[in-house]
Amino acid sequence: MSENFYCEYCGQKFRTVSDLTSNVCSRHPAGSGKGKHKLYEGGEKSEYTCKYCGQKFRTLADLTFNRCVRHPDGADKRHSPAL
Ligand SMILES: [Zn+2]
Ligand SMILES: [Zn+2]
Repeated sequence: MSENFYCEYCGQKFRTVSDLTSNVCSRHPAGSGKGKHKLYEGGEKSEYTCKYCGQKFRTLADLTFNRCVRHPDGADKRHSPAL
């Protein structure tokens, strides 16, 4: 059985957690390339919900691509997936 691991910030898929956490993330909240990917601990789902606004997306990449108008740090920040 093959399990995949996804970044919470950009939705990129990795085969191992160590791969994920050793690479820089283009959608890191501190800025593009300013930090490493972060493991999304919610696992693989058929649908992902933003924890701030409730909007639903088919993939984490779609979710993290868009700005969230209800983000507590400002509307220029991206949606963040609920677990
Ligand atoms: Zn990432
Ligand atoms: Zn949102």
